[in-house]
Amino acid sequence: MPNPDDRLARLRDHLAGAAHLAQAAALLSWDQVTHMPSGGAEARARQMATLARAQHARWTAPELEELVVALETDGVDGAPLAGDDAALVRETRRLLDRARSMPADLVAAISRQRVRGRQVWGQARADDDFASFAPELRAMLALAREQASAIAPDAPAYDALHDLYERGSTAARVAALFDPLRDEVRALVVAIGASGVRPDAGILRREFPEAAQEAFAVATVREMGYDFTRGRLDRTVHPFAIRIGAGDVRITTRYRTDFLGSALFGTIHEAGHAMYEQNLPAQHVDTPLGGSVSLGIHESQSRLWENLVGRSPAFWERAYPRLQAAFPGVLDDVRSEAFVAAVNEVRPSLIRVEADEITYHLHVMLRFDLERALLDGSLAVDDLPGAWRERSRALLGIEPPNDREGCLQDVHWSQGMVGYFPTYSLGTLASVQLWEAMARDLGDLDEFLREGRFAPLLGWLVEHVHAHGSRHEPEELLRRATGAPLSSEPYLRYVRAKYGALYRLA
Ligand code: ZN
Repeated sequence: MPNPDDRLARLRDHLAGAAHLAQAAALLSWDQVTHMPSGGAEARARQMATLARAQHARWTAPELEELVVALETDGVDGAPLAGDDAALVRETRRLLDRARSMPADLVAAISRQRVRGRQVWGQARADDDFASFAPELRAMLALAREQASAIAPDAPAYDALHDLYERGSTAARVAALFDPLRDEVRALVVAIGASGVRPDAGILRREFPEAAQEAFAVATVREMGYDFTRGRLDRTVHPFAIRIGAGDVRITTRYRTDFLGSALFGTIHEAGHAMYEQNLPAQHVDTPLGGSVSLGIHESQSRLWENLVGRSPAFWERAYPRLQAAFPGVLDDVRSEAFVAAVNEVRPSLIRVEADEITYHLHVMLRFDLERALLDGSLAVDDLPGAWRERSRALLGIEPPNDREGCLQDVHWSQGMVGYFPTYSLGTLASVQLWEAMARDLGDLDEFLREGRFAPLLGWLVEHVHAHGSRHEPEELLRRATGAPLSSEPYLRYVRAKYGALYRLA
């Protein structure tokens, strides 16, 4: 008989094996969207399915179940588990039960369909051809419904899927936050439209050479605290950050020489995600406790750096002369105030990832409404383009001229990621709540931004968010960090003050 006191060590060992398989899959999926030739898609789909099966086998192995049962019943040295050990076993139990509820064939089918869906979506988006993507979306939705009923047969399908991204959250909780927020946001958009103040956003659409954009973005995120000795930056179509393993958290971006905002704010955003991953608790590496807790908390980190830091007037007091120097002659005639107004222009637009801080929520709400209808079948896949245009007109007052800028713009549904979109708004709300709490602890944050002292800000986030890994549920983590449950109020205070000043609202 093995020494029972080795149980925790054996548990960590087993979990590390599962984590390494997940990391190998992460590297393959990073490669798929940065370097892989399109001819590699079929082989990549088979490779990913094999890795998904191997991970699933590791999570459903009888010896893992036995280890967890022994730890739950006997603890270690006859004493019940406490602290992080208890949290590790609890978290392993949750993931283990979920894995055991999923048939291996379903796991492999989802993995294959995701690679296929990603590839077909990419082509359909490029060709503005929704019809070629529709069968993939139907297949993915059918798998998502199967997955939902496997993991939580008694819960509404949407809640089962949403919980994969935001533990403990439900459609009802999201709707309770969104309903009042929708009215507040639309009222603000109307007031801003009526203000008569019109920033010249055209200054962001001059000619910005790609190499200079890359150099400026790299220098900016390095200063903020993204560690390039443990990361790298590559190009892709749909930017993301990804953890390949301890000491390897990569970011991606896309450059448009005719629009400065895309790569600049996109890179800061992804670096915000990556700094979270780079500062997760090292003592729990390769275990579920050492991972990020939820996508909402993840997004709170990216939005905090992108918006609260990267779009703030105080940040640009120091950064703007450097930006002018990075693009000789391009912005010589533009004053700092005009630049800050341009990067904070509020205007209903078609593309979610390029939306301003206020109308952004309307993009998320549109998707939240449509994906619930797609999932429960009340909206047929073939009717999605029309429903998208109709919701876009109702919420944003504008209609996409094609599906490329409409229902084909996001990658998520091609991956079966239903229930994911709300986490963008939840994270945005959380980012301001964290910022307010940080200001209570550190004092006037504008002073830090003016002086380019980002280390204390990152240090606060590490202490209150990153270092906890998955020890607490997202809502509990936020309550501990800020003293309150998630609320729209800090966000509304922030946008009213910031945009009240920028647009001279009464
Ligand atoms: Zn993000």
